[in-house]
Amino acid sequence: TAQFSIDTIRAQFPALHQESNGEPLVYLDSAATAQKPQVVIDAIKNYYSGQNANVHRGSHSLTAKATAKFEQARETVQHFLNAASNREIVWTRGATEALNLIAQTYARQNLKPGDEILVSELEHHANIVPWQIVAEQTGAKVVKIPMTADCTLDMAAYEQLLNANTKIVAVAQITNVTGTRNPIEQMIPLAHQYGAVVVVDGAQAVVHEQVDVQALDADFYVFSGHKLYAPAGIGVLYGKLALLEAMPPWHGGGKMVEKVTFAGTTFSGVPGKFEAGTPNVAGSLGLAAAIEWHNQFDHQQAEQHIAALRQRAIDGIKDIEDLRFVGLQPDASLFSFVVDGVHHQDIATLLDQQGVALRAGHHCAHPMLDALGLAGTLRVSIALYNTESDIDRFIAALHKACSLL
Ligand code: PMP
Repeated sequence: TAQFSIDTIRAQFPALHQESNGEPLVYLDSAATAQKPQVVIDAIKNYYSGQNANVHRGSHSLTAKATAKFEQARETVQHFLNAASNREIVWTRGATEALNLIAQTYARQNLKPGDEILVSELEHHANIVPWQIVAEQTGAKVVKIPMTADCTLDMAAYEQLLNANTKIVAVAQITNVTGTRNPIEQMIPLAHQYGAVVVVDGAQAVVHEQVDVQALDADFYVFSGHKLYAPAGIGVLYGKLALLEAMPPWHGGGKMVEKVTFAGTTFSGVPGKFEAGTPNVAGSLGLAAAIEWHNQFDHQQAEQHIAALRQRAIDGIKDIEDLRFVGLQPDASLFSFVVDGVHHQDIATLLDQQGVALRAGHHCAHPMLDALGLAGTLRVSIALYNTESDIDRFIAALHKACSLL
């Protein structure tokens, strides 16, 4: 593992070394998307500069090399999640596409009227809407697992909601509004007692936790590359092999077939069956590079760095008049807050004018915000490359913004 040196890390992120509105950029929106280290940018550049070829097609050296690298990247993801087989890793455009894939294949095939999909109230729209669509198609029902006043999942309610009709439980490992860590280690075996499969949205979690899909016994696990320092447009669906094998394909096209005639088509095996069309090879290589880059750091040291910065930010703003933290979680990499009487977007605009980038709004989680009685929050999210100086700039900028409003 590499020595954790913030100066060395920061130097690897060209996007951080720019000005925004005449001030050095302070980037505190990494939960929306992370900036990219040079090795990831180089992986993409090198691919298009000298390795580009279509994969699994043609019969020349360049395509063979591209295919080998593409499949190596799949193995990097397999080890990253500790999946039992590389065939359990399906490339998608992101977490959103992976969730839609599960809904439109596994769920659409298996749900019938009266079946229930339990979805936590803390979810991102990406882990709600695909279930509503497939519920509409099949006559199944989406049932909310409520959260408690402190923005954690109501586990007692969850246990009561589970029943013989429960077919799917969809839950984020870490949520994106408050950074709440859902107790998936307890939720998964409980769901399995009722024969339900569990879909874990790992979009926020893969960045901050060492995930082991076998230890979790997760049936499906999804994430996006771009929050993990990798490019956008690439993501992963992990599924247990037996589940993937029994699922029908979703998109039809090249590569996902064995044989096509006008009388009918036979499909490829897993994972090819779910990867119709020319894939985002550069994205896969970029994701593998990002995982390798991220793996070089001692996990605990990295998370301690983030936790210390977060605490510094909280301590620096907590005395601001009318400022209220929303569902503050002890070990998160992000936090949300509001300033009563002031619109979140007005604060975000004043911060932006001082070079500070953070997220204001509903964070694609309307049901959670509705439960909180809020139209939006401000969210500070912290990554490996942030510094004490970033946090101090944020604190000063927020004090100034609040004094003006
Ligand atoms: N789930 C969570 C918890 C997220 O934070 C996000 C991204 N904001 C998503 C799902 C969707 O990810 P993507 O837009 O990359 O598909």
